[in-house]
Amino acid sequence: MSGSSPRTAYTTNNAGIPVESDEHSLTISPDGPILLQDHYLIEKMAQFNRERVPERVVHAKGAGAYGFFEVTDDVSQFTKADLFQPGKRTDMLARFSTVAGELGSPDTWRDPRGFALKFYTELGNYDMVGNNTPVFFVRDPQKFQDFIRSQKRHPATGLRNNDMQWDFWTLSPESAHMVTWLMGDRGIPKSYRNMNGYSSHTYMWVNATGERFWVKYHFKTDQGIDYFTQADADAMAGTDADHHRRDLYESIESGNAPTWSLKVQIMPFEDAADYRFNPFDLTKVWPHADYPLIDVGRMTLDKNPDDYFIHIEQAAFEPSNLVPGIGPSPDKMLLGRLFSYPDTHRYRIGPNYSQLPPNRPRVPVRSYAKDGPMRYDPSAAARPYAPNSYGGPAADTERFGDPAGWAAAGEMVREAYKLHREDDDWGQAGTQVREVLDDAARDRLVSNVSGHLAQGVSRPVLDRALQYWRNIDKVVGDRIANKMNGG
Ligand code: NDP
Repeated sequence: MSGSSPRTAYTTNNAGIPVESDEHSLTISPDGPILLQDHYLIEKMAQFNRERVPERVVHAKGAGAYGFFEVTDDVSQFTKADLFQPGKRTDMLARFSTVAGELGSPDTWRDPRGFALKFYTELGNYDMVGNNTPVFFVRDPQKFQDFIRSQKRHPATGLRNNDMQWDFWTLSPESAHMVTWLMGDRGIPKSYRNMNGYSSHTYMWVNATGERFWVKYHFKTDQGIDYFTQADADAMAGTDADHHRRDLYESIESGNAPTWSLKVQIMPFEDAADYRFNPFDLTKVWPHADYPLIDVGRMTLDKNPDDYFIHIEQAAFEPSNLVPGIGPSPDKMLLGRLFSYPDTHRYRIGPNYSQLPPNRPRVPVRSYAKDGPMRYDPSAAARPYAPNSYGGPAADTERFGDPAGWAAAGEMVREAYKLHREDDDWGQAGTQVREVLDDAARDRLVSNVSGHLAQGVSRPVLDRALQYWRNIDKVVGDRIANKMNGG
């Protein structure tokens, strides 16, 4: 290099070879054909065609950030998981998302929000893949795909379709509690910073002496709950479709790191058998009066990813990432998700997705997995099988051999959960409408539901929807019907 003007680094192709031009294709004379030997042009065009991985089939549109989790209180009597031990600080990644919309859909459409967390613990990655709601629409994974299709686009028109949504919901009364959430203020958070996150599922915690507990997580926003009205959300969808993604990024960038306080509900293992509600039913909460919230710690998100695609689009959260001290529960939706999440990552990103920066554990990986597309970490073992006599890793059964589980026996069946004495589909939804919402929130609920039902819901489905709301609460159901009739 000569002269005094600073030069930027020269462009190379993907093999590190200096390229001849950033701007001009190789042609025979300025007007001549483009030559096949312009390998740099071909590399650019071919790479561009492959720049996207398939979008997530649910939770496609999201935003995320890195941060840390600090334990502030002592819950070691309930779990031995290292991230929950007194004084512990653990690095983490969070991703928030809408559910039904595609990658470019507006952030302020009415929808539940995903609340997915990855903790880089001393014994591997722990993922808590929750929502901003403590309950869900269905309680059996057999219905999940059907539910999602009813919320997505109509096969003929390619349009979102309220008739399909209410058709499914009214034929699935277990959806009532979640639909009450969705149609209320919590259905459109003001920002990702202004919403709570819940495990929704029940998990198992195991302490150092092997004692088992059932647990539900509540990440309460320290920014305060805030929401958009339907009208403000509609306006924002047209003004800034990326409002929630922008808010999270700009807030962190300006040094205003959002935090959430983690609280848990703990149920003694033996209580589950005859608790008044089935404690594993994902459409139910555990009332706070029965199982009060216990303080655990605080999560802070203080670092934006330096490359959105690498760190957030390729982030792979999976509820099957459970570390020692934490296990699953008989919640059927959770048991289904233990399979479906890693399976979708293998399809969407590729079988070696766990080697990518957001997914790599911060501890040595000594698995016997090998090969597959895009693999670059060598296998931990000189021989690809266990046991082997060439120094390969061996499971430490004495330390890690106890599964977090429960006793089960009986015939194989396809049946609903065993009912507990207060189980029904309407009760907790009704409690929310009557006892949790104030008058103004109830008014907005009536307005949101009637507005939604007024958009293309056909007569028989509409009649079922009005009955559905009367089953939740007679007064609110009548008010919705009245409003639909122009009242
Ligand atoms: P509580 O009165 O102890 O709890 C009610 C909870 O509802 C609050 O603590 C708050 O939880 C949440 N809440 C407050 N305002 C709203 C709103 N506008 N929309 C949705 N949720 C709101 O009663 P219970 O524990 O007996 O539960 C009664 C009902 O409250 C349940 O049927 C359920 O619908 C709802 N609920 C219960 C939760 C639980 O885990 N027990 C959690 C959330 C809601 P938060 O601070 O978590 O938002």
